[in-house]
Amino acid sequence: MEKRDYYETLNVSQDAGDEDIKRAYRKQAMMYHPDRNQGDKEAEERFKDAAEAYEVLRDSQKRQIYDQYGHEGLQGTGFSGFRGFEDIFSSFGDVFEDFFGFGTRRGKRERARKGNDLRYDMNITLEEAFSGKEEEVSFKKWESCGTCDGSGITPGSEPQVCGTCQGSGNVVRSQGFFQIKTSCPTCHGQGRIITAPCKECRGNGRIKVEKKLTLKIPPGVDNGSQLRLRGEGESGERGGPPGDLFVVIHVQEHAFFSREGDHLLCEVPISFHQAALGDTIKIPVIGQDEGQELKIPQGTQPDIILSLPSMGMPSISRNQRGELFVKIIVKIPKKLKKRQRELLEEFAKTEESTRKKSRIFGSG
Ligand SMILES: [Zn+2]
Ligand SMILES: [Zn+2]
Repeated sequence: MEKRDYYETLNVSQDAGDEDIKRAYRKQAMMYHPDRNQGDKEAEERFKDAAEAYEVLRDSQKRQIYDQYGHEGLQGTGFSGFRGFEDIFSSFGDVFEDFFGFGTRRGKRERARKGNDLRYDMNITLEEAFSGKEEEVSFKKWESCGTCDGSGITPGSEPQVCGTCQGSGNVVRSQGFFQIKTSCPTCHGQGRIITAPCKECRGNGRIKVEKKLTLKIPPGVDNGSQLRLRGEGESGERGGPPGDLFVVIHVQEHAFFSREGDHLLCEVPISFHQAALGDTIKIPVIGQDEGQELKIPQGTQPDIILSLPSMGMPSISRNQRGELFVKIIVKIPKKLKKRQRELLEEFAKTEESTRKKSRIFGSG
């Protein structure tokens, strides 16, 4: 019988990467897994074909030979495919373990597992982001049970060896020509059975506790900043390390300032006479109660942006502050008092005569 192309078997393209190939193999292996296709000869064949294809394509050397010389090229390397399921499971145990929850030796539940990471969302004001903040927070998390030391067994009692698998964690079933090794259903691959579960944690090994922690928010954090507190997540299982706590910062919008990185932006309204004649005004500055004097130069144009160095936000990584950019908004009065109107009309006359003059000069 003509051997199928390996790429075709796994349903991947010739330039597929290692991860694509692994994923494609998992898909095939899951579809044609003997546990799901009891007694189906075609599924059995497909399962073996997929394993053979994966064995070659995951190995860069074998893959290269196959790409150049095809199936025949591989015969010279001593590669001969698999003898049976046992062979396949022992070669790709990790692939199956990830997907089916069991592998070749022991069930995965026995392995140490890192605790879950936790996320804590914190809302702060722009002022708090500027100066930094310390806050005690409380949250619930799983911790290793102190009574049983995380074992789930009442102290002093001993777990019994599982009678179904004699402590190996696996059972071997025969299916026609093949032997299939799977995780023991009685002990879930543990090899032992807990007869006296810990009362505190009900055999879980972990209990939910309320945890208090003082969070230190450094000056300069931005919206979306994440602080990672190593080891403050949930306890690991079976001796695994604890997870981390991620504090996600949400900085509320400010009524006056908007932020761009370490820089702050604001808009300051002045009247048209201040723009024309110049003035000194007081503007709010973050982290400074009394504000800051700002000189408006004579002849300031509308929407001009003045910059004040080191009046922005502190940088979280460098020892410096951003700039404060002040956009000048020139306000035109909507209503004029009688006297103001007279003065402005006077002013307009002086403008008119200069305009006429410039027109004469311009056309001459
Ligand atoms: Zn316990
Ligand atoms: Zn067992």
